[in-house]
Amino acid sequence: MAHRLTVIGTGYLGATHAACMADLGFEVIGLDVDERKIARLSAGDLPFYEPGLEPVLRRNLENGRLRFTTSYDEIAEFGDVHFLCVGTPQKLGEYAADLTYVDEAVNALAPLLRRPCLIVGKSTVPVGTAERLAERIARRAPAAGDAVLAWNPEFLREGFAVQDTLHPDRIVIGVPGDQGAADHAEKVLRAVYAPMLAAGTPFIVADYPTSELVKVSANAFLATKISFINAMAEVCEAAHADVTKLSEALSYDDRIGGKFLGAGLGFGGGCLPKDIRAFMARAGELGADQALTFLREVDEINIRRRIRMVDLARHQLGGSFIGRTVGVLGAAFKPNSDDIRDSPALDVAASIRGQGATVTVYDPQAMDNARGAQPDLTFGGSALEAAKGAHVVLLLTEWPEFRDMDPAELGAVVAEKNILDGRNALDPERWRAAGWNYRALGRPQVP
Ligand code: NAD
Repeated sequence: MAHRLTVIGTGYLGATHAACMADLGFEVIGLDVDERKIARLSAGDLPFYEPGLEPVLRRNLENGRLRFTTSYDEIAEFGDVHFLCVGTPQKLGEYAADLTYVDEAVNALAPLLRRPCLIVGKSTVPVGTAERLAERIARRAPAAGDAVLAWNPEFLREGFAVQDTLHPDRIVIGVPGDQGAADHAEKVLRAVYAPMLAAGTPFIVADYPTSELVKVSANAFLATKISFINAMAEVCEAAHADVTKLSEALSYDDRIGGKFLGAGLGFGGGCLPKDIRAFMARAGELGADQALTFLREVDEINIRRRIRMVDLARHQLGGSFIGRTVGVLGAAFKPNSDDIRDSPALDVAASIRGQGATVTVYDPQAMDNARGAQPDLTFGGSALEAAKGAHVVLLLTEWPEFRDMDPAELGAVVAEKNILDGRNALDPERWRAAGWNYRALGRPQVP
C-alpha cells in the first residue's frame, strides 16, 4: 500500500497537493528547485495567497507528516508515489508549451529510483508527453519496470484549491498500455484517493493520451464559454443591448448554465491562455490543426476585451491619456488569488500607462507580484489611495471589497467621477445615483 508520497514542484498546484495529501494522513515530502520557496514552506509560510491553505500546511508540518526538501536523492529514497507538479508555461514567442521543467524533473528523478514506485504526472501537458516520458523513465531508471508512470491531470481552481483538491468533481487517471502496469497504477491511485472515492467522486481510468486531452479540452471549453459571452458583449455594445441581462436569461437554460457566463475583461492567469495556445500548437503538430482553429478566435475575442477597455477609458477622458490620472482596482487575474500571470488587469494598467497616464494600482493580495512584474506602475495601499485624484477609476478584478465599495466615499477622493466596470461587478443604478458616470463592457451607455 502506498503511504509515502512526494510532490515535485511546490507552486500553486504542488504546495496545495502536498499539504492536502498530508492532511489525508500520508507522509509527504515536497521538493522544489527554488530554495527560497522551500525555506518558506518549511517555516509554514505560504509563498503565495491561497485561502485556507496555510492552516493545512502548518498543521501537517507540526504533526510531522509533511516536510520539504531540494534533494532529489531524498525523495527517490523516500517515495512510493511521486507526483509531478512542475510548471509548463508557454514557450517564449511561440504557442507551444515549454516542457523543460517536466523533462528536467524526470531526468533528475529517474536515475535515482532504486525501489518500485509510481510516478504520477499532474502538470498540464500536450498530448503525447506521458508516452514520451514513460519511455524515458524505462530507459533511465536503474530498476526499469519497477517505476511506472500514470497521468492524473489536475482541475483545481486557484482561490478554491484546498476544497477542489479534497473534494474534486472527478478524478481522471491515464495508465500505460501494459495491463499489469495499468492495474498496478490504478490500484495505487485508488488507495491514495480512497477518501474521495468513498465520497462518490467519479473515477475515470483512461489511456495516456485521453487523460492528457481531458485537461486541455476542459480548459478549451471554459475559455470558449467566456469568449462566447464576451462576443455577445461586443454585439450588445453595437446594438445598445445589455449583456448582463442577456447572460442572466441564458443562464436559466440548464443546457447552458450560468457558470463562466459573466461578460467582462475576459480570462487570464497561468492556465487558460497558455493551455489553449499549447493545445492549438499540439493539434498542428498532429495534423489536426483545423479542428481547433476556433480557439484562435476564442483567444482573439479575449484579447480584444482588454483593448476595448483601454479604448473606453481613453474615450471617457476625452480622447487622450496624456497628463491624466487613472486609478486601477485589481491586479490579480481573478479575485481570491495573488496570481498575476497573464493578468488582464495588469495588462490594461500597463497599456494605459504606456499611453501617457499616471496609473495607480491597488489589489488586496497581488501587490508584491504586480510590483515585481510592472515596476513602472504606481501602487496605492488601498482602493481609496489608488483612486485619489483619478480622472477615471477602472475596476478590473472583482474582489468582494471592490463590489462593496461606497460610491460616495470613493467620489470624495477622485478628481472626476468616472468609473469603468471591467467585470460587471457594480450596481450601475447605485453608482449613477451617487453622481458617477458609470460605464461597463457590454452594457448600454446612459447619457
Ligand atoms: P508554479 O509556477 O506555481 O509552480 C511550479 C513549480 O515548479 C515552481 O515552484 C518551480 O520552482 C518548480 N520547478 C520547476 N522546475 C523544477 C524541477 N526541475 N524540479 C522541481 N521543481 C521544479 O505553477 P503551478 O500554477 O503550480 O502549475 C504547475 C502545473 O500545474 C502546470 O502544468 C499548470 O498548468 C498545472 N495546473 C495549474 C493549476 C493552477 O490553478 N495553478 C491548476 C491545474 C493545473
